[in-house]
Amino acid sequence: MSTYNIERVLHYIDGQFVEGLAGKSFTNISPFNNQPINEVAEGFREDIDRAVQAARRAFDEGPWRTMSVEKRLGYIIRIAELIEANAEELSYLESLDTGLPVSQTKKQAARAAENFRFYAEMVKSRMIGEAYQVDQSFINYTIHKPVGVAGLITPWNAPFMLETWKVAPALATGNTCVLKPAEWSPLTANKLAHIIDEAGLPSGVFNIVHGFGETAGASLVAHPDVQLISFTGETTTGSEIIKNSADTLKRCSMELGGKSPAIVFEDADIESALDAVVWGIFSFNGERCTANSRLFLHESIHDTFVDALKERIANIVVGDPMEKETEVGPLIHRKHWENVMNYIAIAQTEGAEVVSGYIPETYKEGNYVAPTLLLGCTNDMRVAREEIFGPVMAVMKFTTEEDVLRMANDSKYGLAAYIWTNDIKRGHRMAQGIESGMVWLNSQNVRDLRIPFGGSKSSGIGREGGHYSFEFYTETQVVHVATGDHHIPQFGKKPRT
Ligand code: NAD
Repeated sequence: MSTYNIERVLHYIDGQFVEGLAGKSFTNISPFNNQPINEVAEGFREDIDRAVQAARRAFDEGPWRTMSVEKRLGYIIRIAELIEANAEELSYLESLDTGLPVSQTKKQAARAAENFRFYAEMVKSRMIGEAYQVDQSFINYTIHKPVGVAGLITPWNAPFMLETWKVAPALATGNTCVLKPAEWSPLTANKLAHIIDEAGLPSGVFNIVHGFGETAGASLVAHPDVQLISFTGETTTGSEIIKNSADTLKRCSMELGGKSPAIVFEDADIESALDAVVWGIFSFNGERCTANSRLFLHESIHDTFVDALKERIANIVVGDPMEKETEVGPLIHRKHWENVMNYIAIAQTEGAEVVSGYIPETYKEGNYVAPTLLLGCTNDMRVAREEIFGPVMAVMKFTTEEDVLRMANDSKYGLAAYIWTNDIKRGHRMAQGIESGMVWLNSQNVRDLRIPFGGSKSSGIGREGGHYSFEFYTETQVVHVATGDHHIPQFGKKPRT
């Protein structure tokens, strides 16, 4: 059992909370006031190597991989229970670290616990695959085996949910893992290590190394004893990881960026569409991969819809993430804030009309960006093409279904799309025409864990969730068994004449 120290976050390697071998640390900064929160041990190649070796030993020597599925899943359920028991603290830490309002982080622990429960259930029913009787003398069957050491690399947005989304299926299927959480959000990852420690998993099964992408992250990707990489983050980082994992031929899953369109037709339920697009871009401070950052409005409803949007953003409560009425908090980091503010300046030079909500004076020390509409955009502007990843929405007008479909698809990204229409045929036609991994038709971001998640084009490779994660984290092996006499060719049996 370990004591939980928020002043200094340590790596978790081979069942121990440890300093890095170089003894270095970095400072975790509050998004709310840009003051230090705590120090975090900084990991490098040597620390990654130590963690991978521990995970490798735990995989090879057991008992994690070899224990009964029931026993392993007992640990997984225990993790879920501990997450639920620590829900309030997890929500507090997530808001402290990321600036996400508590009203939004409080639901994350429940969802994270659900990730563990869900994969525990799935593994029970799927570890044994299919069996075929070829004829009287042969049976073929498949088994699903863990792959080995999983390298899990996660971003700072909704960090706890995204970490558990990878850790749960990786562990439930019998792999061991090394998690490299984002450097800007170490607190809930650290809490997860303490929870897993308390759940009593064998040493080395789960490891965390904190640190930066170019050092700790890149070392994990290049390590020859890591069999797979599950990555969520920016598209450019994803492509770097694919290149760097090529020499060791790793299995990779990529959940990347987005610039998702919301399309509102003239016959839509306008009030619901308004609620959904406001939530879709301004919830989670706009730091959301599936955010509807491009809004296409039919020309006949454009002006009234924009008026309603202006009214909404003027009323959005921007404030202290720890206060329960806050709807939008500060962005994760000053660097990210500068990036988002720079895009708002770019929008102005590109000719968009910028309309922003209100930030109370008291919050000027934090990384606040007011909810912002970029009106009169065209789809070729940088602010309509590049991922801003903040509470900023580019608004555009369209005339015909063909036009809007062409504009929606004229993007390198293809993560999510939202279509609002009461014409059922048009809704399905649009859904099928849109180039994106996920489409919500007259709905927003609600998703069952059985359903795959992921993007097309530059938004990702592969799918996670449901049985897709199960397949990603397992190796399918075929066993051919002779059950009767069968002919075996007899080479070299006759004496040479
Ligand atoms: P990022 O790519 O900067 O970092 C993500 C992680 O990768 C961090 O842990 C970082 O340290 C690590 N990293 C950076 N460089 C690396 C390298 N060369 N090798 C190995 N690891 C490296 O992304 P971010 O800024 O943390 O997150 C925001 C991005 O994530 C946005 O683009 C967002 O759309 C995307 N995202 C996608 C999804 C999805 O499911 N598609 C979900 C959430 C976030």
